[in-house]
Amino acid sequence: MEISTLTIDGVKDGLRARRFSAVELAGEALRFARAENSKTNAYLTFCEERALSAAAAVDAKLARGEDPGPLGGVPVAVKDVILTRGVRTTCGSRLLENYVPPYDATAVVRLEQAGGVILGKTNCDEFAMGSSNENSAFGPVRNPAAPDRVPGGSSGGSAAVVAQGTAVVSLGSDTGGSIRQPASFCGVVGVTPTYGRVSRYGLTAFASSLDHIGPFGRTVKDSATLLGVIAGRDEMDSTSAAAPVPSYDALLDGNVRGVKIGLPREYFKGLASETGDLIASGIETLKRLGCDIRDISLPSTDYAIACYYIICTAEASSNLARYDGVRYTFRSPNSPTLGAMYRNTRGEGFGAECKRRIMLGTYVLSAGYYDAYYLKAQKVRGLIARDFTNAFTEVDAILAPVSPFPAFKLGEKVNDPMEMYLSDIYTITGDLAGIPCMSVPCGKAAGGLPVGMQILANHFDEARMFRLAAAFEKETN
Ligand code: GLN
Repeated sequence: MEISTLTIDGVKDGLRARRFSAVELAGEALRFARAENSKTNAYLTFCEERALSAAAAVDAKLARGEDPGPLGGVPVAVKDVILTRGVRTTCGSRLLENYVPPYDATAVVRLEQAGGVILGKTNCDEFAMGSSNENSAFGPVRNPAAPDRVPGGSSGGSAAVVAQGTAVVSLGSDTGGSIRQPASFCGVVGVTPTYGRVSRYGLTAFASSLDHIGPFGRTVKDSATLLGVIAGRDEMDSTSAAAPVPSYDALLDGNVRGVKIGLPREYFKGLASETGDLIASGIETLKRLGCDIRDISLPSTDYAIACYYIICTAEASSNLARYDGVRYTFRSPNSPTLGAMYRNTRGEGFGAECKRRIMLGTYVLSAGYYDAYYLKAQKVRGLIARDFTNAFTEVDAILAPVSPFPAFKLGEKVNDPMEMYLSDIYTITGDLAGIPCMSVPCGKAAGGLPVGMQILANHFDEARMFRLAAAFEKETN
């Protein structure tokens, strides 16, 4: 069996034709994933027992002639900020190095109910803060396409395992681009659904008003199938939406002729030339398919970085207050007083990026500064969202780059946080507006570095976004 190129349909066919059993597939996938992991450091934890027992349940269903579910037997990986009962969940942090959650995230429950086989947990930036995976306490992930380069972040591990073929699909999280940017850097499909589409129950909170769980896949169809499984209202997350979930994967075929696509002019300044050329050829492909391409403007884009890094740090400073050494985290030993214990635990436990964000976030929320920074940023967020609302009165979807450049070298930006933040310019706006957006591979730059193209759609219009991506994927093979 050729694990590294399997799709969900490939797994289904193989099981049906008895070329392999789900247990054989899981065993082989685990062996392969362990062997490949020395090259990428993409998995932090394997959960062999859980994988094999999920696979055995799939085999038993098949033997009884029952439907094992839309993900029956499919090897899946889960980003390590998403809770898995009984399986260590570190969030890429020293503080949670030995944390074993007592419950599963809703997305994990749904994935397993659908027959998915979780192989392990993937490396990421600490508490999902970063754009390169270099903020993980457990070492960076290497890009499978170029081992001296970053895979992107913060869901670098989840993108890398799918690119490398050590999982068929995976779950990541996106607060400001953490699914789309690594998908673009690693050459896979990555989807940030509408805010509220997927329950955040069991997703470790970074910035709650911006956090999303979403899928990675090697194909648009696999990503659509996985989103269909995890989406929908959940009583455990009051921000999850009651909107019905269409069968995304059944809606992929079809004409995209006449679909109106906007190119926001603010998104085409400052692109590396190869990235610009690849996106331009992507636009030509969509024209050839009959899409109606128009120029649009999203005038508040220039304020997006400042707005995002105020709101996300404010929310993070509050969300991270719970890691105090009292309950489930690492606790610094030899602290004579409670105050010293808090200080030492947090001082030793958090990495530099988390500390930077806690300080910035605390500052922008503090008395006297709240109005000038946090409140102002909330107003700007409203303007950014309104730009999109206006745009979607004219166009059906928006096309843009994901990142200004392809994967950069390990170490290249670690000492310049501002430079790192600026690289998020094209992805954070979608999260601020809460609209669905995705990265679909659109070619390779020099050195075989993958480049993704971003498609953005209106709230809850994932189906249209997927259809465009599927047509594009088919045309570009
Ligand atoms: N790179 C962005 C940040 O560092 C986005 C991270 C994310 O989406 N989780 O905040």
